[in-house]
Amino acid sequence: PWSIRLDEVTVRYPNGTIGLNRVSLDIDAGEMVVVVGLSGSGKSTLIRTINGLVPVTSGTLDVGEHRVSGASPRTLRRLRGDIGMVFQGFNLAGRASVLQNVLVGRLAHTPLWRTLLGVYPEADKQLAYQALDRVAILPKLYSRASELSGGQQQRVAIARALAQEPRIVLADEPVASLDPPTAHGVMNDLRRINRDLGITVVVNLHLLDLAREYGTRMIGMRAGEIVYDGPAASATDAD
Ligand code: ADP
Ligand code: ADP
Repeated sequence: PWSIRLDEVTVRYPNGTIGLNRVSLDIDAGEMVVVVGLSGSGKSTLIRTINGLVPVTSGTLDVGEHRVSGASPRTLRRLRGDIGMVFQGFNLAGRASVLQNVLVGRLAHTPLWRTLLGVYPEADKQLAYQALDRVAILPKLYSRASELSGGQQQRVAIARALAQEPRIVLADEPVASLDPPTAHGVMNDLRRINRDLGITVVVNLHLLDLAREYGTRMIGMRAGEIVYDGPAASATDAD
């Protein structure tokens, strides 16, 4: 797993909006961190910056072995190959099968011609099966993604991230569109990935209750700044 280090990172969007304001943050390899804050506080900017999707305006960002701030497009592509992303909206190809969706996570490692022909190396398929088994969705292998429930679809998205053999998993509001029992199931999966595989996990949440239950370390954000960094269990609304 990889560490994430931000030193005085500021992100200013082209329209002048400040997404992150001189944020310094050290996340160690193998940590599970939950990030909470109101809408517009900078949570998804933080995740998109770590993933190299949003450029750092000033300050330094190191993710594992990569210096992300000021990095070349080539470095950013390699970085993204090592980071598994999970989104609120699942981002699956609805008409494709569960297996095909998970194998997309292997794209960076698979020659293009194989992908175009739908011929996947046996090793890729084994990785996909393992990932689907880990989130208990292997029996749905050949179902169309659109036929699954929301919770099942999010598990497929997690399996897709895992099949990439990531050093880090970043999840942006992964349970925001799920009902509470399903949300707990998905949070449990993320926690098991962290504990069993030792992968560094960062999860954005807008529900403090869930964050308290599943985070060890909680980061609270407001207006692009970190206003709380401490144990999740003892954090209160006032923090
Ligand atoms: P979030 O769930 O993070 O609050 P939003 O609904 O704020 O998401 O934003 C959804 C999309 O709109 C994101 O891709 C974000 O980059 C973009 N966006 C948000 N605010 C602005 C803005 N002020 N100007 C341009 N794009 C924005
Ligand atoms: P959160 O994820 O906590 O809802 P965001 O990171 O989406 O917060 O947003 C932080 C700030 O950056 C907000 O003021 C938002 O409007 C702004 N923002 C987000 N994306 C964009 C964008 N693409 N262009 C301009 N402003 C943006």
